[in-house]
Amino acid sequence: MRSNTKLIHSVPVDELTGAISVPIYQTSTFVQEAPGINRGFDYSRTNNPTRASLENLIAILEEGLVGAAFGSGLAAIDAIVKLLKSGDEIIAVDDIYGGAFRLFCQVYEKFGITVKYVDTTEAENVFEAIGPRTKLIWIETPTNPTLKITDIEAIGKIAKANRCLFCVDNTFASPALQKPLSLGADIVVHSATKYLGGHSDLIAGLVVAKDPDIGQKIKFIQNASGAILGPFDSWLLIRGIETLPLRVKQHCANAQLVAEFLERHPEVNKVYYPGLPAHRNHTIAARQATGFGGIVSFTLVNDTEKAAQDFAARTQLFKLAESLGGVKSLLCHPASMTHKSIPAQKRRAAGVADSLIRLSVGLEDAEDLIKDLEQNLPGTQKLEFENQHVEPRVAAID
Ligand SMILES: *Cc1c(COP(=O)(O)O)cnc(C)c1O
Repeated sequence: MRSNTKLIHSVPVDELTGAISVPIYQTSTFVQEAPGINRGFDYSRTNNPTRASLENLIAILEEGLVGAAFGSGLAAIDAIVKLLKSGDEIIAVDDIYGGAFRLFCQVYEKFGITVKYVDTTEAENVFEAIGPRTKLIWIETPTNPTLKITDIEAIGKIAKANRCLFCVDNTFASPALQKPLSLGADIVVHSATKYLGGHSDLIAGLVVAKDPDIGQKIKFIQNASGAILGPFDSWLLIRGIETLPLRVKQHCANAQLVAEFLERHPEVNKVYYPGLPAHRNHTIAARQATGFGGIVSFTLVNDTEKAAQDFAARTQLFKLAESLGGVKSLLCHPASMTHKSIPAQKRRAAGVADSLIRLSVGLEDAEDLIKDLEQNLPGTQKLEFENQHVEPRVAAID
């Protein structure tokens, strides 16, 4: 079976009724036939049939063995850190997602778990940073918002040789483009809030483990700590995942055109997109993923915070908001939004310039998206998009 067929048919038809959509088992508990005798479900924190369908689906999609669904991406990350104990060390990508950074240093450091941040785009840096206490290597690729690429296979070899767990936050690529478990990772984590959900309508996190032992530990933590995803959101996420390959294909195609437009524009200074041959690790990105994703970042020639903020305030189709991966295009100014909590100097050192703008390229027509950006750059006449708020065609009938 090819991958799209496999995805679609990994969502089961309901055995009881033939319902083609997964039923939402909105229940806390399950009636038992005799004490301790049940049909595989006893309490919905431990296991719920709707959530189980989702967990099975993501495990298949990521080519892993055990899936676990959580109430947010950060709850999923939290469950993985709980595999560690006091005295253990994490080696993490230096421009890690801000929420993961906050969790590591403001929650787990006080429990004696330390983190070393390194530039993982050079695998040697990881090798050199490993010490006797290193238990977990944590990367994102591509990263946020500068789209740095790390060689998953190279880090996987280092992790294996040093008996470290290796976790990849696969949020930006999604399993439609990149399967870290088949490249040597032990664990994949997702903010399913982004591409997997795909419609900016839920918050969710997913973990997939390749090894049954690690999988069982994650399931134990999921039940013991209890940060589960509810049945309705599990259903909504299944619905999102069913169209993932189709959506991601279009996100990639649109993002490539937007990136190429920006690269040509005289008022744009730098463009960050792994699909551009000029990207430092374009070759690695092309080798380990089947596409380059829907996120494009760029800086203006006028490298000031004000210029970027003015730009961000004036786009019409790109809506100013945090988050990414939905059908509507979004834009964000990391220096004053997602990365505001990082001190300016540290932020700039990590490559997040004051004028950096991050685009989450949506599923509109690329021509319109490009027009929206172009009319906003210096030297172009402003234009108004007609029909942004489409009027109802038929008057309301009372
Ligand atoms: C958004 C995001 C997270 C956090 O996920 P939530 O669902 O917001 O909790 C983690 N990692 C990456 C790369 C993200 O973009």
